[in-house]
Amino acid sequence: MAHDVIVVGGGIAGCAAAERLAERGLSVLLLERGALAGGATGRNQGGLLPSPLPACGGLFAEAVAYYAQADRESEVPFRFRPHGYLLVAADEDGMDRARGHGHALAENGFPAHQIGPGELRELEPGLAPDLAGAVVVEGAHALHPVLTAAALAVRAARAGAEIRTHTMVRGLLTDSERVTGVVTDGGPLAAGAVVLAAGPWSRSLAQQAGTDVPVFGARGWLLRTAPVTGAVFRHTLMQSTWHGPVGLKRNGPPLLADVAAPAPAGGAQVVFSLQPLPSGEVVLGSSSGPALQLDDVRDGEEAVAMIAAAAARHAPVLAKTPVRAAWSGVRPMSPDGLPVVGPAPGAPGLWLLTGFGIDGMPLAPGTARLLTEYLVAGRCPAGAEPFVPERFDARGDRHD
Ligand SMILES: Cc1cc2nc3c(=O)[nH]c(=O)nc-3n(C[C@H](O)[C@H](O)[C@H](O)COP(=O)(O)OP(=O)(O)OC[C@H]3O[C@@H](n4cnc5c(N)ncnc54)[C@H](O)[C@@H]3O)c2cc1C
Repeated sequence: MAHDVIVVGGGIAGCAAAERLAERGLSVLLLERGALAGGATGRNQGGLLPSPLPACGGLFAEAVAYYAQADRESEVPFRFRPHGYLLVAADEDGMDRARGHGHALAENGFPAHQIGPGELRELEPGLAPDLAGAVVVEGAHALHPVLTAAALAVRAARAGAEIRTHTMVRGLLTDSERVTGVVTDGGPLAAGAVVLAAGPWSRSLAQQAGTDVPVFGARGWLLRTAPVTGAVFRHTLMQSTWHGPVGLKRNGPPLLADVAAPAPAGGAQVVFSLQPLPSGEVVLGSSSGPALQLDDVRDGEEAVAMIAAAAARHAPVLAKTPVRAAWSGVRPMSPDGLPVVGPAPGAPGLWLLTGFGIDGMPLAPGTARLLTEYLVAGRCPAGAEPFVPERFDARGDRHD
């Protein structure tokens, strides 16, 4: 039997979409090639960090309300909680960057204020005594990303969606006019619409329908330690230089020249970040580098040593803490840093929900709602305009 909608990808985007679509009464089949949250969703730090992008402020607030309710109601609690957030600076240049980012956040509705080194030490005694200060940002939250995806999948199933893991979508079914379903190893599956929520893998799937989605992969590495002794970290900490022209929001895939003469760590940008977990463990990052091989999980692993060095510099108490794991994931990046949500240009029947970059957790619930409204009503809903795929030309540049 044909489904109304097939969703490809069981990350946060696909699980959120399956839930929203099923709640609207559509028959939904979600196909995931591995386990749920096997992509970036299961490999991230679990932060909902305020964004300075005006188009994303409303989606952030929607996500906070949505996750709070979902966590309360869930058979799978996913530890959604408010969380302190500090942009830390090692020197005056870093403080300038922190103030600039804090100002942009405040203009977007997230109050932020500067503190000096003394106050920073009081808030986080485990940090190095010679740091220049920080900007305190209001409104951040944290969650367990794998459990969150699982909880949304359970909600989707309760609403009637079928969730099928370990099912690789090999290709798209098309007739002369539109996309009519997908091809799996088990055979063809027909659908009225196909939603690609397959992270950076969405691009090669969309190309089969003759449409190019300018989404590329940026690999990030993280380390997880054993419970820390000698200090208790209470805030999500991010080195302020993460934000800005050399931060991870590279507006495009690497150039041939970058590949020919890579910077240290395979071209990755590395800064200090720390996410405390309820267990007392901490997750350390952050890196971002070109992901030329989306499925090579060891790609750019030189970043691990740089992350450890940055952590030891900013939080010397960590130097003697055992490291339990290191892993990488690939962020689906768009050229303008905004998600790509809506009908695929030139491919009727095909829909896109990708390009979430560094902010998939706060952006997925609201964009999944927008996609659902668009698909059901057949016209672009209010609030979706900044995210529509046709904002890019064939070169991946914005039209405006
Ligand atoms: C190191 C790191 C740290 C991060 N930290 C944060 C953070 O703290 N907060 C935050 O908001 N964001 C963070 N992000 C970004 C966030 O993880 C992503 O924006 C988000 O997970 C993207 O979700 P997605 O569902 O679009 O993609 P994914 O989670 O990658 O899901 C895509 C899914 O599609 C599946 N798939 C692909 N091809 C096929 C196919 N052919 N057939 C079937 N299934 C297929 C994949 O297996 C995968 O499960 C981080 C990312 C990384 C890498």
